Amino acid sequence: MFLDRDGVLTKEKGYVVSPEDMEIFPYVRDCIRQIREKGYFAIVVTNQGGIAKGLFTEKTLCEMNDRLIRQTGVDAVYYCPHHPEGCVEGYAGECTCRKPSMGMLEAARKDFAVDMEMSWMVGDRASDILTGKNAGIRTILLESGYGTAGLEFAVEPDYVFRDLRDVPGIL
Ligand SMILES: [Zn+2]
Repeated sequence: MFLDRDGVLTKEKGYVVSPEDMEIFPYVRDCIRQIREKGYFAIVVTNQGGIAKGLFTEKTLCEMNDRLIRQTGVDAVYYCPHHPEGCVEGYAGECTCRKPSMGMLEAARKDFAVDMEMSWMVGDRASDILTGKNAGIRTILLESGYGTAGLEFAVEPDYVFRDLRDVPGIL
């Protein structure tokens, strides 16, 4: 199960710039446990363009990732530090990992020998759903982040749920 971070596992706050700033929803650990018990890897795929914009460093993000893994039990965190309008050398510009591109899913597929036919993409934004569609997997849109009223563009996810607590029940 590929999971977006902000708005899915943690409270949507625009840019989260430090580990202390990252607010993990209280129910996430239990949901991840249920998902993993049903035979799925729980793999986070997150755009973190704040690195390219100079808002925080990759080292700080790695500290956030460690905390996320420790406190939620997810198997791994894949991130894209790039942004087309970034200003930090080495991170600014186009890439093949920023969602809705499939780079992070492709990397995880290889690392974990993921069966894509059984996989899901869970997110709170239209770009997450498009990522799943690009990868040819099933998609779930959650209302726990930006909400579904202000989607950047129209998408047709397989399911729309309130939050992550509704996900394990359909597996
Ligand atoms: Zn990237």
